[in-house]
Amino acid sequence: MAADAHNYPDIPRRRTRSVVIGDVTIGGDAPVAVQSMTTTTTADVAATVAQIDALVAAGCDLVRVAAATQEDTAALSAIVEAVNVPVIADVHFHFQRALEAIEAGAAKIRLNPGNIADRGQVREVIAAATAAGVAIRVGVNEGSIVDRRAGEQRDADLDKPLVDLMVDKLAEYLEVFEEADFGKLVLSAKSHDAVTTIAVNRRMAERWDYPIHLGLTHAGLAAEAAIRSAAALGALLAEGIGDTIRISFAGDPVAEVSAACELLASLRLRQRRGIELIACPTCGRCEMDIAALAGQVKAALADIDTPLTVAVMGCVVNGPGEAEGADVAICAGKGRAILYVRGQKIGTIPASDIVPAVVDEVTKLNA
Ligand code: SF4
Repeated sequence: MAADAHNYPDIPRRRTRSVVIGDVTIGGDAPVAVQSMTTTTTADVAATVAQIDALVAAGCDLVRVAAATQEDTAALSAIVEAVNVPVIADVHFHFQRALEAIEAGAAKIRLNPGNIADRGQVREVIAAATAAGVAIRVGVNEGSIVDRRAGEQRDADLDKPLVDLMVDKLAEYLEVFEEADFGKLVLSAKSHDAVTTIAVNRRMAERWDYPIHLGLTHAGLAAEAAIRSAAALGALLAEGIGDTIRISFAGDPVAEVSAACELLASLRLRQRRGIELIACPTCGRCEMDIAALAGQVKAALADIDTPLTVAVMGCVVNGPGEAEGADVAICAGKGRAILYVRGQKIGTIPASDIVPAVVDEVTKLNA
């Protein structure tokens, strides 16, 4: 464990109902779970299983797959059988896909009220989910919240503030679940906009005690999406809101999971796997290329799973202070660096020995 120089505060969590999804619990006292979604065609069992395995290896607790076609749901039982994580079926438009996914062993179904509005169909899904012990996420989405048919309903939807509209649609949709006394629910409301996401989830947390799945929709490419997601999800998680999260990128979902794990670790809501690298931003006092050095240290320690803190600092201004809180630290000077292990000065080493010396000390702590 990292040496603690300070007694850091923790984030209080909102208390919700707990919902068991396969062997993962969402809400209650459970830690915030990380989700992602496969980008493979679900009907391609081998590719989907391989991607799910990669997501799990990166720290994903639950994986969602698209249940778009009958071929997808037909493949689902083989996928569920082959992987070591609860599988969620993402259903839009066709309630039959939800019934098939439940039959195939999905641990949870995601329904979008904007895309399956027929209450009779929703009741059928609820009955099947109840019989199978399957959870349902009711997720409203900014992109499918306004009635598409021209007329009074569409005009009324467009007149309402977006957050009110999202909460009202969610409440309306939940009536059918509450009538059926179905409690295995997780709620979500997604927008591409961080401020809307914060506002709507705050309202949901005030109104319901169901666990909440946090995420942005259509957040963009990795660099923008990670920051936008961290802004919205970080603000909510810091208020104790959010029981499971997905950071979504256009691109490799494994990177989504790494970003989600980093966000939770940054808020001390999940223990980091491997090295937490602290590096100073450098300034005019710096006499070594710290960005390059930190990159070399990070790459050299990539296989370490133990949560240890390593600090790479550019001078002695903040270096000794960071060194006290880090497991291994270096304070670089011109052509050399001071090496610390858990706050103790070990010695001064030449620049060429910094990376091997850090690796050596981390390896000893990891033994
Ligand atoms: S540790 Fe030193 S070099 Fe790095 S930013 Fe701070 S003052 Fe500048």
